[in-house]
Order: sequence, then structure tokens, then C-alpha cells
Amino acid sequence: MLPIPRRNHLIRTKTKIEIVEFKTHRPRHNSQKTEPMTSEGLRDVLLPWAAPLRGHKTGDWLSENFEEGQSLTEFRAAWKPRDIDRSQRIQIFRYDNSDQRLKPLSDPAIPPLSEILRAYFPRVEFVFTALSDQQQCALVSSGIEKENGRRLGCDFLVNLASKVRKLSPEPPFAVTLLTETDLHDETDSSADGWVFGYSEPNKGGICVSWERCKRDGEDFSRSRCFVSLLLHEICHVFYIKHCVSFDCLMNGVNSEEELAAQSLHLCPECHAKLFDILRFDPFDRFASLRKIFGGMAWKRDGSLAANLLARLKEANTN
Ligand SMILES: [Zn+2]
Ligand SMILES: [Zn+2]
Repeated sequence: MLPIPRRNHLIRTKTKIEIVEFKTHRPRHNSQKTEPMTSEGLRDVLLPWAAPLRGHKTGDWLSENFEEGQSLTEFRAAWKPRDIDRSQRIQIFRYDNSDQRLKPLSDPAIPPLSEILRAYFPRVEFVFTALSDQQQCALVSSGIEKENGRRLGCDFLVNLASKVRKLSPEPPFAVTLLTETDLHDETDSSADGWVFGYSEPNKGGICVSWERCKRDGEDFSRSRCFVSLLLHEICHVFYIKHCVSFDCLMNGVNSEEELAAQSLHLCPECHAKLFDILRFDPFDRFASLRKIFGGMAWKRDGSLAANLLARLKEANTN
């Protein structure tokens, strides 16, 4: 029996804010004219390619959690600009639970992770440098480390990430703490109440554990399951909720089996939400993902990126 994480990490932000609509411009073929692309337009072009939501069974996320889903309009109502306009940086550290220190990721982990993240979240700068001694000292003197109990709690780690974020002279958009120790939901007293990861958009804190993604001899950063978790939690920090419309990276996940089956791609609705914030070039993004996923030998994910790119190109020439 797999332990079932019970935490429902839905994001319940309901604050209404004003969203300024933006447009990206891409030259048409044989013409210098530009064609505005709206989030809705991008979504509608890709909708025919959306894969249906996978069927679920007892123990899966949707059998245990009621999910309302989130439309593009609802996403816009939830979005808080916070610091994204000032800083599009996300800092990533390794949290070592043996000495409760934040450390830089080891070298082998960085190339695949940084390449994947930069392709997936264009225009976001991912930073992997170590904390300064001054920041580390400030963390220790803050007393936050003493709050950690026997089990590593996801609220504890997200609060630590938030604290690190605020320690920076120029706070990054979010801080992500990766750990190889199992994470637990502090509100769940059952012995098996572990979680894969957790994200708090209002605090700009993310934590993800690779403990459940271990495969024989495989570096965690090359593990498709771990990458899927990390991409999912980063999307949450952009106020993107769980998706119940299609097969999607933002589907909730309750077990290793569900995680292994999860798509690395966002469905058209969730893809439009990310586009709404980051204003990337979707052609370049799919081309980069096709190359990177193909290079990782994740054939299904590489092929899907190629198909989505073909669909966009076809729509752009019609
Ligand atoms: Zn989630
Ligand atoms: Zn979706």
C-alpha cells in the first residue's frame, strides 16, 4: 500500500485585481505586419489538441479531493502581481534536513534542471547560487529552524522559503527549496501523511521533495517524476490552480502511479494562464521543449511539444 498524501493544496485566493491585457506580436509569413495574439486566441487554437482528463480510480487525487477547477477568467481574478513586475527571478536551493542548512544544488543537477525550467517558464530567471553567509546567519538567528519538528513539514519549509525571499535586498518572485527528505503535512497526524510538494503563492514559497521520485542510479534532476512535480509546484506559485478539464500538468496527483502518468504539458486553458503572465513566444517555447524533452529521451513529451508547435504554425499560416 502506498501512503496517500491527504493534503489538499488548492489555492484559495479570491482577491480581485485588475489585469492589464497584453498582446504579443509575431511577424506573419512574407509580411512585416504583426498579428496580435491573445491568451484566449492561443487557447482556442490549441483546444482541438487537448487530451481528455485521465480516468481516475479509488485512491487517486480526484477520488479523494473535490476540485472546482479554474478558468482563465477565474485565474485572472486570483492573480496578484506581487513582485513579478519588479523581479522575474526564482531562486532555488537544496534544503539539507540533516543539518537544516540551505545549500546550492550540486553541479550535475543544475544543467538539466536549469535548461528545462528556462524553456518551460520563458522570461523567468532561475538562480541557483548559494545563500550568502550573512543570509544564512540571519536565518539561524531568526529562530525559524527551531520550529522544525521530527518530521519535515511542508508549511515549515514554505515559511522558510518565504523568509529567505524576504532576506534578499531585492526579493525574488519566489524561493524554491528542494529536499531529499520526505515532506509531511503538519496538520495530518497520520503516520503516512507525506506530500510530494507544496506551494504558497501569497508567500512566494515552494518546496518539493525528490524522496518519492528516486530511481536506481538516476540523478533526481533527470527524473521525469521529479521534474513534473517541480514544474507543477512552480505553476502553483503563479496562482494557477489544479486543472480538472483536461490531461494536464496541473492535474492533482496522489500517488507515484499518478505522478508517472502525469503530462509534462499544460492543457490549452492552463497554457493560456501562463502565457497571460509571462508573455512568452509560444512558438519558441514549444520548440525549446521539443528539443529538451527529446534530449532527455522523454519521447511522449517531446512528441507532444512538436505536435503543439505544428498546430500553432498551421494556425498562423491560415
Ligand atoms: Zn498541486
Ligand atoms: Zn490544465
